[in-house]
Amino acid sequence: MSEERSLNFIEEIVEQDISAGKHGGRVHTRFPPEPNGYLHIGHAKSICLNFGLAKKYGGKTNLRFDDTNPVTEDTEYVESIKEDVRWLGFEWENELYASDYFDKLYEFAVTLIKKGLAYVDDSTAEEIAAQKGTPTEPGTPNEYRSRSVEENLRLFEEMKDGKYPDGAKVLRAKANLASPNMHMRDPLMYRIKHAQHHRTGDKWCIYPMYDFAHGQSDAIEQITHSICTLEFIPHRELYEWFINKLEIFPSRQYEFARLNLNYTVMSKRKLMQLVKEGHVEDWDDPRMPTISGLRRRGYTPASLREFCDRIGVAKRENMIDVSLLEFCIREDLNKTAWRRMAVLDPVKLIITNYPEGQTETLHGENNPEVEGGEGGRDIPFSRELWIEREDFMEEPPKKFFRLGVGLSVRLKHAYIIKGESVVKDADGNITEIHCTYIPESKSGNDTSGINVKGTIHWVSAQHAKTAEVRLYDRLFRVEDPSNEEGDFKEYINPDSLKVIETAYIEPDLATAIPGKGYQFIRKGYFTLDKHSSTDKLVFNRTVTLKDGWVKK
Ligand code: ATP
Ligand code: MG
Repeated sequence: MSEERSLNFIEEIVEQDISAGKHGGRVHTRFPPEPNGYLHIGHAKSICLNFGLAKKYGGKTNLRFDDTNPVTEDTEYVESIKEDVRWLGFEWENELYASDYFDKLYEFAVTLIKKGLAYVDDSTAEEIAAQKGTPTEPGTPNEYRSRSVEENLRLFEEMKDGKYPDGAKVLRAKANLASPNMHMRDPLMYRIKHAQHHRTGDKWCIYPMYDFAHGQSDAIEQITHSICTLEFIPHRELYEWFINKLEIFPSRQYEFARLNLNYTVMSKRKLMQLVKEGHVEDWDDPRMPTISGLRRRGYTPASLREFCDRIGVAKRENMIDVSLLEFCIREDLNKTAWRRMAVLDPVKLIITNYPEGQTETLHGENNPEVEGGEGGRDIPFSRELWIEREDFMEEPPKKFFRLGVGLSVRLKHAYIIKGESVVKDADGNITEIHCTYIPESKSGNDTSGINVKGTIHWVSAQHAKTAEVRLYDRLFRVEDPSNEEGDFKEYINPDSLKVIETAYIEPDLATAIPGKGYQFIRKGYFTLDKHSSTDKLVFNRTVTLKDGWVKK
């Protein structure tokens, strides 16, 4: 699917490094999720970039759980992250945890204390913030900054040994209080947190800050290219400061623009709120921008990889239109989805000149768009069918190429029929449409000589199975809910889910394969929901056949 494209700026850097023989031409990346939620499509971008680079240049990628914050992390998230990365089609070199480096990081901190480059500070968070100065005024050193190495070593050990309550002390880097970069003004390295960690239990009551854990973890793993999003640009100086002062492997950080997608939110914190407050069913609700939600919705790994490839790697933030994502899944499913017939809003059609009690077995191909798609399924045909209510008009206007009284249309894979009359209930609603068929017009063997403009889908009433069908729309009614006034949840689209309790589907769909895409002819692409069972089939609409949103 991908067209040839030029190198992105990170590939350019990697190619320069390889030709300069840096690190022996080795490429080693890492994907470092914090296990505090499920992965979303933005993470997919980072996964495709990190794993894609390694793949392209014969390198390796580590999966590293950035689990330095015991309060928000959980093994449930670790498992889901692994499942999602694998599902996207990538395999990591090593499964690693920043928490496995707690001993090593502690040693690094001691090294910096011994070098006079770190100190224990008893100030409160507010005091530290006040002493930091402003972007135009330098910070001011406090009394703790001049503590002796011995005192710092003793206090830091006591912090580790649990002698102090949360917040009583922190370890700070003795960097540069006058730096124009606020991140360099003696940033925190460790804080006290008496909390249970999902892997280390209660072994530790001090935890390293992101800035002290991340670069050092990269260096321990000898990561050559540490790729992150633009908001980490101001952290780069500190990243390099720690590595230089510790004289450890010189990993380097490179930043690219995060993926922003319209009509959704993408921070785990916000997605968590949607789940916890019951606005969606769960993290894998098919309306969620999570990888698990997209999978349940019927997106394929190939379509997400293609999407990530098409949006490219940018240096500046921008907003990607969700219709591009939909375009990618349509392209994929057009080639892979099997064609089937389902009637979502049924009305009865009776073919008055078709013998009562007769059944024929017709044939339909799986997918006319691809080679090998000819193999298909049997479709039973009989006198009474279900058709789509919108495919019939009693008094059709000009250019209505479907069924009407006096209008002819072809039934897909079957015969040409002509509308004759309708039966209505007391309220005037049509309950039956009566038509006649032309026996010589059978698809594949049509000798009738009649041409009709339209073809409609149908299901034999006697043979039909039923299914619940769920139709999805955008989760938010505005492009950028995070940027609107008030709470982002006020902008949830109230019509993002429409449930059709009883749709009629052709019998072959009763054995639909979980995870496979089906095109319900003229209605869109569908896949079985994870809660579907043989007693109650449930289908999710992945996407419509055409982009219907542009018109709205
Ligand atoms: P969120 O803000 O959604 O919680 P995060 O950045 O805190 O995301 P992490 O688990 O820390 O999530 O991210 C793992 C990796 O994925 C990081 O390298 C991060 O930069 C990258 N990443 C996260 N969101 C995006 C995004 N929208 N686009 C591209 N990369 C992203
Ligand atoms: Mg994060």
